[in-house]
Amino acid sequence: MPPRISLLDDVTISRIAAGEVVERPASVVKELVENSVDADAGDVRVEIQDGGARLIRVADDGHGIPPDEVRLALERHATSKIATAADLVEVASLGFRGEALASIAAVSIVTLESRAAHHDSGTRLRVENGRAGECTSIGMGAGTTVTVEHLFEALPARRAFLRRAATEAGHVHEVVARYALAYPERRFKLVRDGRTTLEAPGSGSLADAVLSVLGLEPARQMIPIEHAQGDIEVGGYVSPPHLHRATRKDIALFVNGRWVQDRQLSFAVTQAYHTLLPKGRFPIAIVQIRMPPALVDVNVHPAKTEVRFRDGRPVFAAVQRAVRAAASGQAPVPSVGPQHQSGTAGADRWTGGPGGTWGGAPQSRFAERLAAAQGTAEGQATFTPAVVSGLPPLRVLGQIARCYIAAEGPDGLYLIDQHAAHERVMYEELMARGDDVASQRLLEPVAVELSASQMAVVEEHRATFAALGFDTEPFGADTVLVRSLPDVLLGGDVAESLRTIADLTAVGEAPIADAVEERLVRAVCKQATVKAGQALSAQEMRELVRRLESTSSPRTCPHGRPTVIALSLADLEREFGRI
Ligand code: ADP
Ligand code: MG
Repeated sequence: MPPRISLLDDVTISRIAAGEVVERPASVVKELVENSVDADAGDVRVEIQDGGARLIRVADDGHGIPPDEVRLALERHATSKIATAADLVEVASLGFRGEALASIAAVSIVTLESRAAHHDSGTRLRVENGRAGECTSIGMGAGTTVTVEHLFEALPARRAFLRRAATEAGHVHEVVARYALAYPERRFKLVRDGRTTLEAPGSGSLADAVLSVLGLEPARQMIPIEHAQGDIEVGGYVSPPHLHRATRKDIALFVNGRWVQDRQLSFAVTQAYHTLLPKGRFPIAIVQIRMPPALVDVNVHPAKTEVRFRDGRPVFAAVQRAVRAAASGQAPVPSVGPQHQSGTAGADRWTGGPGGTWGGAPQSRFAERLAAAQGTAEGQATFTPAVVSGLPPLRVLGQIARCYIAAEGPDGLYLIDQHAAHERVMYEELMARGDDVASQRLLEPVAVELSASQMAVVEEHRATFAALGFDTEPFGADTVLVRSLPDVLLGGDVAESLRTIADLTAVGEAPIADAVEERLVRAVCKQATVKAGQALSAQEMRELVRRLESTSSPRTCPHGRPTVIALSLADLEREFGRI
């Protein structure tokens, strides 16, 4: 006999649904903080005990909930934020599904205390694992406090998935940090087991929020970004190329104040650092996108951390442009002075030296920002990009070990990696040639065997490859004939170049023409550059340095390694014990 079909009871239904919203303490904090933001709170305090498993409390000074609505707030599908399905098209609030509180209350003990601004007293309601008690009247300040205790205690299977308290607390920290960044005009505080671990002042300056989240050292090096294109606005801060992380974790994206996870957007950010960062390293970025709500669908996922753009392309383009402008203008000359902090494997790497970046610009910017934050809080981020692009004029002194060019600059000694420098020069010169890449016809076509996926890529992007000087023609199921090549590739390994480019194109998500072009050029650079170990005449060195000076990102090679290191006069004086 098959089991009988029957309807589930409400408590079970709630618990199943809760699974989608409440995964761990951090997801509870996220929902509660979002409610505080939606209630226009200027002050949000988050408190957790034991990683949030024992207690989570979010207190705000927002508009509160009137006594007769308190019970309703905890019901599923009860919301004050939208009224009809049509409102879903233009959601301006963070919440709208009306299920967070109900979901949380289904898997914990929730105490909701709230006083609406125009009411004399507040209301308290306790719900234990989906069963609501009675409302009582209490005295309290205007605002709302939600206390969540014993999360998942009635659900041992879920509880078993929670990690160590420190791990869960770490996730909570990230959530609060994100909202502090998204809403610099509001005060956020996180208290963990009685200790304050994050405090954002709510001054209205994003720089201050960045400072409280990242700490002084990284924060003072961050570069503001700004770009507007049609009705899409991009703002925020990104790290200079010498400041990078081992994971994408510190790329925070916000769409209309909502923190979102979006692979494409995050790719747009990392792509903007293309050739500026070492392989496998990622920038720190706080990217805030503002656009008409009607052009983004926020109702994609129960946790509301994913969005769907009506048309993603202009959004990605705007982000990429904003980030690229900031990142490429700022690649600093790493200093090798005595205060140079060498990074440990896997940890954050700092190669910025004393002033952080060349010319000490960040210090003055930082001072400026601090002054502005203390004095005139005008609700604006106050860094101004002191863009230090290019290199100072350099006088070539000679070659060292047939690998490095020693040169004198206005402020000290510069050492240039001749191979890396030439790669950068070639890369930019070829990129600048764009469509004019000269193609060389081969006397005999070369047959190149490809994997199925490589075949597919070459087939699909034949026109792009052709525009780059690569003429290919299918020759059986797994072979293409290469009839012509970009001239700079002559003499290299045709098969290897084609396979590499096909592979890279297959994994990439960038606009295909750009990606192929860049990768092609990179492959080209590898083959055609001045090698380490090659003797250069004074004339050749001067020529190379001159060409390097005229590139847009002279301080890194296309693979993100430095082309130049500097030893400032101050460093020299210190080393020689003169000061
Ligand atoms: P949603 O946020 O999707 O509307 P929730 O379950 O998170 O759903 O909250 C239900 C309702 O309770 C909200 O629409 C809001 O009216 C009210 N509410 C929840 N938290 C707060 C708060 N901190 N301040 C004021 N009102 C709140
Ligand atoms: Mg909500």
